[in-house]
Parts: sequence; structure tokens; C-alpha cells
Amino acid sequence: MEKLKEFTLNFFNKLGANITKKGEVYVVSNIIKSFEDIVGQASPYPITFDKETKGAEYLSHTSIIFRAINKYLENAGKTTLLRIDFEEDLSEKLKKRIKLKNCEIENITKQHKNHFFSRFSFLTTFQYINKKEQILNEIYVHEGKVVEGSLDGYKIVEGENKIENKDFLMKDYDLAKEKLKELTISKTEEISKTLEKHLDKETEGIKKHYDNLLGELGGDLTKQLVKINELELQLRVAEGETEKEELKTKIDRLKKGLLKIADDEAKSRVLKEREFSVNNAKQKNSLNISNKLINTTVIYYPIFQFNLYIKGDNSKRFLELSYDPLTKEMDKLKCECCGTQIEEVQIDEAGHLTCSNCLDHCSECGKVYCGKCLNKSCHACGKPLCKKCSKVCFACGKYACPTHLRKDCVSGEDRCTMCLRACLRCHGLAEEKHFGESMDGSKVCQKCLAQENRNKIMKNIFEN
Ligand SMILES: [Zn+2]
Ligand SMILES: [Zn+2]
Ligand SMILES: [Zn+2]
Ligand SMILES: [Zn+2]
Ligand SMILES: [Zn+2]
Ligand SMILES: [Zn+2]
Repeated sequence: MEKLKEFTLNFFNKLGANITKKGEVYVVSNIIKSFEDIVGQASPYPITFDKETKGAEYLSHTSIIFRAINKYLENAGKTTLLRIDFEEDLSEKLKKRIKLKNCEIENITKQHKNHFFSRFSFLTTFQYINKKEQILNEIYVHEGKVVEGSLDGYKIVEGENKIENKDFLMKDYDLAKEKLKELTISKTEEISKTLEKHLDKETEGIKKHYDNLLGELGGDLTKQLVKINELELQLRVAEGETEKEELKTKIDRLKKGLLKIADDEAKSRVLKEREFSVNNAKQKNSLNISNKLINTTVIYYPIFQFNLYIKGDNSKRFLELSYDPLTKEMDKLKCECCGTQIEEVQIDEAGHLTCSNCLDHCSECGKVYCGKCLNKSCHACGKPLCKKCSKVCFACGKYACPTHLRKDCVSGEDRCTMCLRACLRCHGLAEEKHFGESMDGSKVCQKCLAQENRNKIMKNIFEN
């Protein structure tokens, strides 16, 4: 039992979890998500190693937590594959999502494609002056971007597929490491600052201590060192050659004197000790950071694609709509006329999906059409016309409605009424070019002129 206890607590410690003890109950919290996913339940986990204790899971070889630990360790180092489970009846959901006005949905079929994202769990350990701080970071990467991730509230099951192409994992890992740096930098800076202050204080103390020692040894080593330092600084800024020479001689003399002092065994030992103490303080106040990747998980979930028909009275339209159950986002339906998002779907005679604003009637046949289909109008009366109801006048090249398109009584061709003129004799319509002057001086159509000619000939025949 003790072994099991040690093993379990050790495991949670290594994962960076918090463990608090209340009586015989150990409450494990702040544990990585990849472990929670295996348990199938979020932490905290109250556990106990005492059979008599109530209100906590008794840890044995068959308990849920213990089995999760085993599973976790089996997969450690491997990439875990998880799937987010969506069980809802999505076809029904889709039908509810789409509001229909003059049409209905037919023949829905569903396919899906898997989308992947990766999750990396890092345990960062900061070690300094007998202290150890651990931070747990879980970083999600989706389609080449670090994303804010949380799988809370989703049903996670073990993935049954194999990851065919793992190339993306390496790239995702690099991104996650970059992100980790970002996440730990402020902590690093914060600790470094404290350590620097600490070190400065300690070094000062050490120097003071050894200066005193040297003073007690009777030498004026410190004074000499200060003097040399001063002279060397002067030499650096000195300009004249003689001045430089003088300074150099002085420095040489002082250094020789220094050697004499340093020859003294006691003093050199003190100096060595001082150096050692300073180095020691530096080491003691240094920060060690280690990052350990403790888990890699690939999570996949389906993106659904629905194929369906929107059916109107006389037309049908095939549609592909994708639905992301994670973001709950569905492809937006856009009006094929004005491009805005459709609230209520309507379909026109040509099978175009439109919003309520863009649907109108052809004033000739009365059928519903979208603004794009009704882009022609009669130039005589201005009525909007569908493709079928609009005819072009070959004289002026403009469109006309059936009321304003007539047969030229001379050529027999269709012309708009703007291009025709009424013949006062036969009341027929003809193009201006088909008019001529009759015997009584009035302008009549060529048909009437021909008639007049025929009558004239006939008259002549009978008169002769
Ligand atoms: Zn519209
Ligand atoms: Zn029409
Ligand atoms: Zn249309
Ligand atoms: Zn018209
Ligand atoms: Zn015309
Ligand atoms: Zn006529």
C-alpha cells in the first residue's frame, strides 16, 4: 500500500499537479488536461489510500484514477490521439437552422472530413536559491496558429484513426515552443531581477568582509589597487606623450609594490578566498530553467458537409454547406443578387437563392425572379421583364414587352412600337422607311402604295 501511495503521489508531483492533504484525503488539482481527458472528468480528484475513509476515491489497482495513471504512462512519449465526439442529429439541426419561405429542402446527404489540432503540455521548472517553482502550460495549435484552446464541455473519446501524416506536428511543436517562451518570459525576468539584487547585496557584503581582513593583515593592498585603477583610467584619456610616459612609470612602480604585498602568502590566500566567495555567490544566485514536454496530443473532430437541394415550385438548386460543430458555424447563405446574408431563403424561377428584398415578379408572366433575372425592361413602358418575356427590337436594339412589340406590316418582322409608325389608310404599323407618298399626297405604308398601284393598273386596263 505504501508503495502504491508513493508511486501515485510521485506521479502527480511530476505532472506538476497541486496536492493538498486533509486528514486521509489527498485532493489532486491543477492537473494537465491530457490527464483529465483520460480520466474523462475534470480535476480536482479527491483520493485516499485508506479503505475506511469516505468521500474520496479509494486508490487500488482497479480504481479509475489508477487505471488512468497507467494509461497515461503507457502513452507517455507517444502522441495521444483523441477525438471529439458529436452525436447530435445534425441533419435535423441543419433543417432548423435554415429558414425557408417559398421552398423546401430535399435529399440531404452528409459527409465529413477530419480537422486536426495539436496540444502540447509543457512543465517548466524554475530552480534558484533552494527554491523550485513549476508552471504548467498547455498550448493548442490549429492550422499553423496558436489558438486559445479548451475542450471543456466536449465529449472526448480515444481516437480510432491513425495519424497518416505527422509532418504538421513538427511545425506545430516549433510554434508551441515559441509560445512557451512568450508565456514564461515575464516569470523569468521577475526572478532574474530578484536574483540580481540579491547577488549585488551579497557581493557587497563579501567585499567588505575581505577588505577588512586585508586591512587587518596590515597591508594597504586595497589602497594600492584603487590607486592603480585611477591611474589606468587617467592613462586611457591622457593625450600628451610625456604625460602618458609619466603615468606608465607610476603604474609600473605601484604594480611592483603590489607584487611584493601579494607575495605575502596570507594575503594571496585571502584574495583567492574572496574570488571564490564571489563566484560562489554568483552560482548560488543563478536561475536554472528547464522545459519538459510531458504530453503531445492530436485531437481531431469532423467538419460536416451537407449536400442538399432547395426546391421551389418550378426550380431546384443544389447546395453544399459545411458545418463546424466545434465553432458551431455553418456556411452562410448569401443572396445571389445583392450578396447579403439571407435570413429567409427564397428561390426564383431560375433557381437563384435570394433575400426578400431582391425577389420580384415579371410584370408580363407574373413569375418570381431575382433582380438579376429581371434586369431587362420594356423601353416603351418601363415594365421589368424576365428573359423569356423580353424581346429585342432589331431596329433600335432595345428590349420591349409583348404589348410594345408589333409586327411590321410591310416586312413582317418584330419591331418595338417606338420604331413603328401607323399608316392612316390601313391602320397597320410599319417602320418609317417603309412609307411613301400616295397619289393624294398623304404618307402611307408600302403595302397601301402597292395596293394603290395595283388599283391604278386595273383601272387602266378597264379604261383602255
Ligand atoms: Zn438580395
Ligand atoms: Zn416573364
Ligand atoms: Zn434569378
Ligand atoms: Zn411595354
Ligand atoms: Zn425599336
Ligand atoms: Zn397602310
